[in-house]
Amino acid sequence: MITSHNGPQPADFTDVRATNLAVVLRFVRENAPCSRADIAASTGLNKATVSSLVADLIDRRLLRETGLTEHRVGRPATMLVLDGSPYAAIGIEINVDYITAVAVDLKGEELLNWRRSFPGGTSGPGQAVVAMAALARRVVSRMTKEARQVLGLTVAVPGLVDVDGIVRVAPNLGWRDADLAGDLTKALRDPGFPVLVDNDANLAALAEHRFGPHRNAANLVYVTGEMGVGAGIVLDGRLRRGGQGYSGEIGHLELDPAGPVCRCGRRGCLEAVAGVGAILAHTAPDASPSDLELEIDEVVRRARNDDREVLALLENLGRHLGRGMAAVANLLNPEVVILGGYYVPLAPWLVGCAEEEMYGRVLAPGGGGCRLEVSTLGYGAAALGAAARVLDSVDSGRLPAQR
Ligand SMILES: [Zn+2]
Repeated sequence: MITSHNGPQPADFTDVRATNLAVVLRFVRENAPCSRADIAASTGLNKATVSSLVADLIDRRLLRETGLTEHRVGRPATMLVLDGSPYAAIGIEINVDYITAVAVDLKGEELLNWRRSFPGGTSGPGQAVVAMAALARRVVSRMTKEARQVLGLTVAVPGLVDVDGIVRVAPNLGWRDADLAGDLTKALRDPGFPVLVDNDANLAALAEHRFGPHRNAANLVYVTGEMGVGAGIVLDGRLRRGGQGYSGEIGHLELDPAGPVCRCGRRGCLEAVAGVGAILAHTAPDASPSDLELEIDEVVRRARNDDREVLALLENLGRHLGRGMAAVANLLNPEVVILGGYYVPLAPWLVGCAEEEMYGRVLAPGGGGCRLEVSTLGYGAAALGAAARVLDSVDSGRLPAQR
């Protein structure tokens, strides 16, 4: 179980019934199919309370009974599973070259996944809000046609997002102090659901932790492989944001003081030597940021054809990446570091040398058990995590209003 909240929960969460409804919902999410007796036995709530809570959740169409029964000593029990089909959670990711929108139902089943080319790297926050609002309206309209209630929308941004959802710095977008949540809420004319903004790496880590093949790992780090490199950190089953929400900026770990200039103004940051820009600076120095995907495809094509220049560049990038991941492994000792974004198509040429470099630099034997893996959630990981953040708030007790 993961929540994206730090510290004490707000006062409205102290409503005992809402809390108990959330406890039952979470239990069924993690243990379905299960019976009312299973819920009572595991949560410590008495059977009458569980029956009443389950009836409420069935009324709200968050749970449903299945025809399945489990025969034990005594009466057969009716089994419960998550329903949630009348609901949708929306995630949108903006980056230097695209906008992605994902919608999932309460179970996390993907309802749609749209990707649009968008010049985020050369657009201001105002233009981005217009583009995101247009996309969000189309998603909401599709969900409404399917008779689904939208529970919320979260936007994933490659940059520092403070606890109030203000984008403080997004170096690769060139943004500072943008009230994206406020502006998008206005552009959507107060849509009647919460609009949140969060860091892309944090959200991708949430997606991996909730839906990915390593979801059983209590300690995982997700590393974005876009023009920027950032990390989302899950420790002991919880996303760790740090004091003001700025944890995980590994892209600006200094790896080579004499290295190339980074977007942050300093030299030789991990992002500058191990981000995909480090390769494109050689293979496509004049390419527009909106052609990133095409340029990476070209790098993959050349690597497959054993192009020696590209293979050497990839090995160099992999070694720098491994040095950075050694710092992560020494500091946090995660079970798994998951490489995402453009690292995924480049992985066949990166992971081997990155692992070798990492294992050589981690003090603990066997790298402290840390494995380097490639994300299977695809380019949509941050957007999927943005939708997952909406589901998280339902899990924490913000149940949808009955209609
Ligand atoms: Zn930097």
